[in-house]
Amino acid sequence: MNYTPTDRTTPSRYAKQRMHYDEATVHAILDEALFCTVSYAVDNVPFSIPTAFVRKGHTLYIHGSVGSHFLREIEKGIPVCISVMLTDALVVAKSAFHHSVNYRSVIIFSKAEKIEDYEQKALFFKELTDKIVPGSWDYLRPMLPKEVQKTTLLAFDIHESSAKMRSGMPIDDEEDQALPIWSGLIPLSNARLAPIPDDLSREIPLPGHLVR
Ligand SMILES: Cc1cc2nc3c(=O)[nH]c(=O)nc-3n(C[C@H](O)[C@H](O)[C@H](O)COP(=O)(O)OP(=O)(O)OC[C@H]3O[C@@H](n4cnc5c(N)ncnc54)[C@H](O)[C@@H]3O)c2cc1C
Repeated sequence: MNYTPTDRTTPSRYAKQRMHYDEATVHAILDEALFCTVSYAVDNVPFSIPTAFVRKGHTLYIHGSVGSHFLREIEKGIPVCISVMLTDALVVAKSAFHHSVNYRSVIIFSKAEKIEDYEQKALFFKELTDKIVPGSWDYLRPMLPKEVQKTTLLAFDIHESSAKMRSGMPIDDEEDQALPIWSGLIPLSNARLAPIPDDLSREIPLPGHLVR
């Protein structure tokens, strides 16, 4: 299925080569990224807040303290713009002008819907926890009802969204291609490295889901 491009999700540059509106591309980027940035305006003052998220179907969920200024503003249903990016490589060209980045990004225009249903909130916490630390939910001390109640959960429809991707080598000007200047890619990684125990966990064996 494709999300339908709108005026807001059509860029002025590389509209054909780099843009994608199919749900498989948009969802794959959202599912790989752990964090998004939510932007909104209050009284003409722009705010932009990074936060964790989960996608399920055509909905993106974020959460936070019921006391959060950010969530209390956007739960009113004001327009928000959510962006997500994954960086794959620095693109090093023979000239500064043609340096670039290989990336996959998504931009979504939406409005929040506040989720009050206890079961839906509890399910979200499981999905978020297992996304950030896969396999951890069943290992942890179960979540308490008061912890669910202290947390706001907001849902955003993602139908008005676009994905943009750059891949491949630098594109140098023809007249520069014979220059003895190194060009190519510097790959970037977001790999998870070996876990580090805190002082309370030195004698506790590393659980299987963290070994993996
Ligand atoms: C890590 C990273 C680094 C970048 N560095 C630069 C840089 O240094 N300079 C630069 O000019 N550009 C950079 N870009 C690309 C930048 O995000 C814009 O795509 C670009 O500036 C072109 O904007 P535009 O005027 O065509 O888009 P606009 O016409 O302003 O955008 C209109 C709509 O197009 C869609 N759109 C535009 N860009 C994206 C995107 N990246 N992802 C998903 N949807 C998008 C959105 O729906 C947006 O509302 C970078 C992107 C990433 C992810």
